[in-house]
Amino acid sequence: AKPAEQAKSKVLNVGTDAGFAPFEFQDEVSKKYVGFDIDLMEAVGKQMGYEVKIQSMGFDGLIPALEAGNIDALISGMTITPERAKKVNFSKPYYKSGLSIVVKMDNNNIKDFKALEGKKLAVQIGTTGAMEAKKVKDATVREFNTAPEAFMELKAGGVDAVVNDLPVNEYYIAKAGAKDAKVVGEPLNSEEYGIATAKKNTELIEKINKALDELKKNGEYEKIYVKWFGK
Ligand code: GLN
Repeated sequence: AKPAEQAKSKVLNVGTDAGFAPFEFQDEVSKKYVGFDIDLMEAVGKQMGYEVKIQSMGFDGLIPALEAGNIDALISGMTITPERAKKVNFSKPYYKSGLSIVVKMDNNNIKDFKALEGKKLAVQIGTTGAMEAKKVKDATVREFNTAPEAFMELKAGGVDAVVNDLPVNEYYIAKAGAKDAKVVGEPLNSEEYGIATAKKNTELIEKINKALDELKKNGEYEKIYVKWFGK
């Protein structure tokens, strides 16, 4: 390629809600956004010849930001759902997830989703966890802007349980030193995460899908997976 072309790389503005470790969070020292999704998005961008610029915003503001054209794509541990797919284009699934429950270590009566009936639950606004929690009979559902705030409310004793994505719950307990909490029961469901673009931007989602295919083939996806999940 001509040097001038190489120097001027195209920019892909990507939105995320950087409070969802290990998928996206802010490194305490470098203040950079890091995580599985960030590495994956950067690899996808590189594959497509784009420089990726990450910006963080509230999870419930991500799809509106795409629709308004403020970002080109989003990656945020976002579950592919039929309702969301009416508003955005999802890529092929890139990660298998599911919802689970976190309770205080000394809680011995909540062992599964059935036991959440009539309880106080903390969730993050606009998430699949919030949707499922609202279906629980007689439960009081408190919605927080971020997942860490929902965990904090559990720690403070304001709720009985948090309903949230299993890998994030496990990471919170293992890495954030939350020795006073535990994950209980089987995952409620199975969900898949996708990268998204605006509905009209079909060309971009096709490029992203192609890049994802390539990263799976060339072992790059595997490397990023092992870096964050270790197996
Ligand atoms: N996977 C969940 C959802 O899509 C939660 C995502 C998140 O909080 N970042 O609703």
